[in-house]
Amino acid sequence: LLNLNLYILALASSIPIFIDGVAALRRITDIFSETPTVQESPDAVALPHFSQEICFDTVTFNYSTERVGVKNLSLKIRHGEYVMFVGQSGAGKSTIVNLLTRFYDPDKGSILLDGIDLRHATLRSLRSQIGLVSQEVILFNTSIRENIRMGDLEASDAQVEAAAKAAEIHNFILTLPQGYETRVGDRGGQLSGGQRQRIALARALVRDPAILILDEATSALDVATEAGILATIDRIAQKRTVIVITHRIAQALRADKIFVLEHGSITASGHHTDLVEREGLYATLWQQGHQTSHSPKLPLS
Ligand code: ADP
Ligand code: MG
Repeated sequence: LLNLNLYILALASSIPIFIDGVAALRRITDIFSETPTVQESPDAVALPHFSQEICFDTVTFNYSTERVGVKNLSLKIRHGEYVMFVGQSGAGKSTIVNLLTRFYDPDKGSILLDGIDLRHATLRSLRSQIGLVSQEVILFNTSIRENIRMGDLEASDAQVEAAAKAAEIHNFILTLPQGYETRVGDRGGQLSGGQRQRIALARALVRDPAILILDEATSALDVATEAGILATIDRIAQKRTVIVITHRIAQALRADKIFVLEHGSITASGHHTDLVEREGLYATLWQQGHQTSHSPKLPLS
């Protein structure tokens, strides 16, 4: 997805890149083999800087006749909100990201950003406003500094460091003998999953995105590491629009607003305190979550 953009950006500027690991390589090939279905319209306009709301207006999208993505989905995310999508695997959470980043267009309905239909907008003006972190982090065998800068190849060193500070990895980087010049290839194996994920977060933040999206970004981490990153994300969410996608219900109480997704439809939305009172999937999952060791006791903010 956006990693593909990074890759293309890196190629375009002829930065030598070395893809770290077979999994990452496979991921990039997968992205390339995905046929893009969207075309930029010849009279596409540049979106203004996001300031009002994202609106999904009765959006239906299917990958194929038997693969339902989302069904008749309507939702609004206001500028500055901290929202979460919760739902089980296959519910359509990543499909919402694919539609919002316009890797696909809806079959029915429309998606608007500040009132402008994404189909009428340039891809660049849309995607440059979005920072995405997903579960799999692709690090390149170059310095930590360059790995972060891949989110915005024009970023200055100061901007790279500001992003690392926001991702709360700056102090750790300074403890490395070579600091920001440490090559990830040399240290990659010694970076923990959480540290890699924070570098990915810094990479997403370096472009100063109006909208930060985390798609199961912390789900591969252990509970303690995840809790640390979620606390960082809470702080970031005080200053920008943040969309977190998770199947871990315990995270949801942090959000201003939760959307519960089931089989491609939103079946409930609201704050944790409302949803937990209502009969339905959310309350059920919440009850179950409390009975498993996977659910950390999160402080109520
Ligand atoms: P989630 O992120 O909630 O786990 P997804 O949005 O990835 O769910 O998937 C929703 C449905 O769409 C699932 O049935 C899934 O198999 C299907 N799907 C997702 N991506 C693709 C794709 N690229 N091609 C075909 N079907 C897909
Ligand atoms: Mg997903």
